[in-house]
Amino acid sequence: MGIANSVLEAVRTEMGRHPGTYPCKVGVRIGEMAAIDQDALRFCFEAMILETDLESLELGIEVCPRRHRCQVCGYEFIVRDYDSRCGQCASLETTCISGDELELAYLEVEEYEPSTAGAKSTQ
Ligand SMILES: [Zn+2]
Repeated sequence: MGIANSVLEAVRTEMGRHPGTYPCKVGVRIGEMAAIDQDALRFCFEAMILETDLESLELGIEVCPRRHRCQVCGYEFIVRDYDSRCGQCASLETTCISGDELELAYLEVEEYEPSTAGAKSTQ
């Protein structure tokens, strides 16, 4: 899946900038309108990191609600049940300001400890 791949690419790019560290958790932000299946994304992600140097990387998913801003009064609100009317002045002239994003929210890294590097169980 393309999304899992682009998340991993972003992680690798980020890691290139921070030598001596390894990523332990990556967070992605998904808008609720982006129509992304979280389970599918997680599944693909885990399949892609299996038996790679990123195998222990955890994926955190944050879902952002759909938000609109009123053109008339500037009020910003979360759209529920597809009702995009302004909650303050009831105008229908509102525009979507978020809810379809897909972006890297954060990346948690840890520094390599020379003593434990490569100390993997070999049963
Ligand atoms: Zn308004």
